[in-house]
Amino acid sequence: MLTVTSVAALRAALDDRRRAGNRVGFVPTMGYLHEGHLRLVDESRARAACTVMSIFVNPLQFGPAEDLSRYPRDLEGDAAKAARRGVDILFVPDSTEMYRRERSVAVIPERGATRWEGALRPGHFSGVLTVVAKLFNQVQPDIAVFGQKDAQQAALVRAMVRDLDIRVELVVAPIVRDGDGLALSSRNVYLDVDARRRALSLPRALAAMRKAFDDGERSASAIEALGRIELQRDAVTPDYLAVVDPVELEPRLDARAGDLVLLAARVGTPRLLDNTFLGRST
Ligand code: AMP
Repeated sequence: MLTVTSVAALRAALDDRRRAGNRVGFVPTMGYLHEGHLRLVDESRARAACTVMSIFVNPLQFGPAEDLSRYPRDLEGDAAKAARRGVDILFVPDSTEMYRRERSVAVIPERGATRWEGALRPGHFSGVLTVVAKLFNQVQPDIAVFGQKDAQQAALVRAMVRDLDIRVELVVAPIVRDGDGLALSSRNVYLDVDARRRALSLPRALAAMRKAFDDGERSASAIEALGRIELQRDAVTPDYLAVVDPVELEPRLDARAGDLVLLAARVGTPRLLDNTFLGRST
């Protein structure tokens, strides 16, 4: 695995790979890698001869009161995991490399970014889309792999690719969970023992909602109420819990097969995100 820290070195390495006829797959991350990230690498490797992973904790997507400085980091461990999983090029720019000059242009979503995460984190998705657009221009991948874990992010990246005519094929990989059902997240490291136990109310709530749908319930508010009951058992109050359509993420009154349930809640220190599809196996 080649590790590069500059855009110039990245481009030089990729030029060589492209001349050799390799398709390029790309996995953007903020590091502190876990199995969820590494499955994205598997997806990329199944589709492209050269896989680039980026690790960049993007200051632009953190609000002033958020956990940018406390975001977990372990570059050495990450590099070992990435190499073992078959990443070809690890791109680790620092903030000055990524945001070299005075900035005057950003990507600002017009729709779909004011609800859910966007409502709680103003400016977050502009930060995400700006860095993803830059990374796409730096790597120029044939395919890029994102996780369903961040469903709203995946939906907005898809909208950006469509609306800005970016030539990349997007792959969205299923959520990877721990044995007990908790969705893997770099932020799980900040769950203490009690919070880790209470956090299981998130996948439990989603499972209860899926079951209600499978049993024939179609009222979105009735399904949501069942999820809230599960969360309340562990004194978890969601930031949001909603049945939405899977493309625009607009709230539903009546749930349909293939709809998505979005859930976010603070449990102890970290905010946790989870989601599930109704009427589908994953
Ligand atoms: P992050 O490092 O948290 O920005 O995540 C980088 C990528 O990994 C994003 O596309 C996430 O959606 C994805 N990801 C994070 N956790 C998981 C998970 N448990 N399962 C699947 N994908 C994940």
